[in-house]
Amino acid sequence: MRTDTGQVFKLEDYRPSDYLIPRTSLDFRLSPDATRVTAVLTVERREGVAASAPLVLDGDGLTLLGVAIDGQPLSQADYQATPDQLTILAPAKQRFELRLETEIAPSSNEALMGLYRSNNVYCTQCEAEGFRRITYFLDRPDILSVYTVRIEAPHNEAPLLLSNGNPVENGVLADGRHYAVWHDPFPKPSYLFALVAGALGKVADSFTTMSGREVALGIYVEPGKERLAGYAMDALKRSMKWDEDAFGREYDLDVFNIVAVSDFNMGAMENKGLNIFNDKYVLADEETATDADFANIEAIIAHEYFHNWTGNRITCRDWFQLCLKEGLTVYRDHEFSADQRSRAVKRIAEVRTLRAHQFPEDQGPLAHPVRPRRYREINNFYTATVYEKGSEVVRMIRTILGPELFRAGMDLYFERHDGEAATIEDFLKVFEDVSGRDLAQFALWYHQAGTPNLTVSSSYNAAARAFTLEIEQSVPPTPSESRKRLMHIPLAFGLVGAGGKPVAWETVDGATVEDGVIHVRKRRHTVRFSGVSERPSVSLNRGFSAPITLSAQQRADDQFFLASHDGDSFSRWQAFNTLLTDALIAAFRHVLGGKEPAFAARLAELAGRIAVDEALEPAYRALALSLPGEADIARDIGKGIDPDAIFAAREMLARTIAAANREVFSALYDSLADKGPFTPDAASAGRRALRNILLDYLSLLPEGAALAARHFNAATNMTDRAAALTVLAHRHASSREAEEALAAFEARYRGDALVLDKWFQIQAGVPGRQTVEKVRALMQHPAFSIANPNRVRSLIGTFSSANQTGFHRADGQGYRFFAETVLEVEKRNPQVAARLATAMRSWRSLETVRQDKARQALLQIANAENLSADLRDIVERTLA
Ligand SMILES: [Zn+2]
Repeated sequence: MRTDTGQVFKLEDYRPSDYLIPRTSLDFRLSPDATRVTAVLTVERREGVAASAPLVLDGDGLTLLGVAIDGQPLSQADYQATPDQLTILAPAKQRFELRLETEIAPSSNEALMGLYRSNNVYCTQCEAEGFRRITYFLDRPDILSVYTVRIEAPHNEAPLLLSNGNPVENGVLADGRHYAVWHDPFPKPSYLFALVAGALGKVADSFTTMSGREVALGIYVEPGKERLAGYAMDALKRSMKWDEDAFGREYDLDVFNIVAVSDFNMGAMENKGLNIFNDKYVLADEETATDADFANIEAIIAHEYFHNWTGNRITCRDWFQLCLKEGLTVYRDHEFSADQRSRAVKRIAEVRTLRAHQFPEDQGPLAHPVRPRRYREINNFYTATVYEKGSEVVRMIRTILGPELFRAGMDLYFERHDGEAATIEDFLKVFEDVSGRDLAQFALWYHQAGTPNLTVSSSYNAAARAFTLEIEQSVPPTPSESRKRLMHIPLAFGLVGAGGKPVAWETVDGATVEDGVIHVRKRRHTVRFSGVSERPSVSLNRGFSAPITLSAQQRADDQFFLASHDGDSFSRWQAFNTLLTDALIAAFRHVLGGKEPAFAARLAELAGRIAVDEALEPAYRALALSLPGEADIARDIGKGIDPDAIFAAREMLARTIAAANREVFSALYDSLADKGPFTPDAASAGRRALRNILLDYLSLLPEGAALAARHFNAATNMTDRAAALTVLAHRHASSREAEEALAAFEARYRGDALVLDKWFQIQAGVPGRQTVEKVRALMQHPAFSIANPNRVRSLIGTFSSANQTGFHRADGQGYRFFAETVLEVEKRNPQVAARLATAMRSWRSLETVRQDKARQALLQIANAENLSADLRDIVERTLA
């Protein structure tokens, strides 16, 4: 493991390397403890670089066994080798062949970066800097090389040998060994290199591209699990078709392979022609996967596939440009899911995710721009800001340009930069070129951290028939950026009149307004609409056109009106959600001694009407009825957070809604019971989601535990089973029903690690102070392994990032357990430990007693010896 060198990498320090590696040939002799890697690199000195310039290659924990140039072994005086670097002092030749031999031990690689073994399968993860754990290389994304890979292994150990590109040769050798050769004609950076070898089952299919080429598709899984890969294969074919239809992008190799492995740091990886997946994002059937799992599989299969153009054919110049591939590809997978499912429902879910994960990042010590300017450890920048906010920025470009010019810009991007390592400036330039617009102010969305806020108030003058909006923007300070510049914020809006009809106006001044969007560019705008015949309610940030917070001085009556009548379905949901949030904050103040909240009864009545509104999709109704989470409420309150009081406030509102709608909810619950065989489609999933949220409410009423137990026992799919188990464990923790259901679930899925993750997760999320001891005990469960990232995330990750009352125990026991466990995980896997540690990012918003305990736990981690670069970076920034 690399310990921290303290080095800070800065965007302004970027310079091209002195040498290029146009061709890379790799030969692997696989063995669990001693894999021999021979790399033959065609190296070229860049024009204008002095002949005396040394060639400095990156390594990470490597042992060099041999080095030669053009067949001549180098003498000790010609190079310097350390585990982390190989320097050829003066190669002298302009072009030469460098031959390197290294030896690595995949079986003891628990960091899961580079080449490692998972369940007896060899696999790789090279993004961001894992390739340097395989051989010395210019391990940076702007070094594009054409790879040929030969893999050799005993046939019985690894009957399957895969790498990037197309298969070109294979054969049998002496002593039961065999080999395969792969060639990838597309130049690629080293982070996209991949190798898989082992005994795996295969699901085969094919896809004919728009120009009529046949592509062989393969999904490889643990033998015996082939039937669980059908949904993933279907999602892959739909993704390939969609990218042709929506972006004109065709697949380019003869084969496309996906491999599912059980030990994986991330969700999945887009290696050229050979995607490697965390098996939880491939394997699914109704018995083992929830509807949310199906939707995730579809989205992640699509995301990795879409990278073939946005990431692989056009890659990033350096890691500061990570959002160039990630933000754009997340935007593309969101659009895909919106087209495959329901656009309104998908948009609400995206915004909930953005607010839950990115907004706290922006508001805390780990805030950074979508394109960061500096980093100590790039692994820590695979963040919600780079991914989710990065996607929102692309969406805003489309909003500003309109769909036709946006598509023209994307076409130009593909045409102009195919085969290159590009930058955000390159990306923005194509949209300026196709539209003639100046995006300089807009570009601040990439360069400036923090969530902008708009304060909006409105007034209507009936006599003058004038409606006026006063808009003021501000961007809060973030670490190392105290002064902010004004942003270009595309604010979609609508004026809503009686019965929900749009209200027309004759002229508007005070800001550019086009296609239902106000372009906010200054600190203050007074936007005057004239010729307005009735007093409208204003619907703001429709479709969440900009990732901002809104402080709108709007009357509760207007919010209630919009929650029932807004023609924009996102804004309608938003209006109701704002009412819920306001009620929850009022209830929170009441718990701490304030006055009784005012409009809870009116809100409960509206909830009942939304629940049975047949004009709304069931999935939409389910989202509307699910209360803002405890962390969301905390974020909106801002400071002095007492998680116990927030929990109590949320329970109070939930009970009010449940009690007021008992009959309505019961009848609807009964009518939604699944009839006929299970299908994972969006409409069926929506009905299940609505029924399960109703169960959640009804479980708060007398006989709630019995109802949930019946739901659990009658369940014919994982969605219903897991929902009922959650209700029992979280709402009726000490009941006999909960105990029995937990035991039954464990017995039924013993031996299926992925499903038991749900069992760990549900128990780690049980609210209250007793859960920390339960989590400690579950770490001793035979199915738990601290070396497996999925197990760690299910149990420790859920407890620390999703259990507000358990983790933030006032006596600090939750934090103490957390600090110990993070350090334990770190010994094996620094990346996973660093990710876990981000659970502490909002510690300064806690009330003082908890704040103090949280600081102590952070210091305990910071003071540990030999901390990895990954963990030290997160902890020090969190404490700063
Ligand atoms: Zn990605």
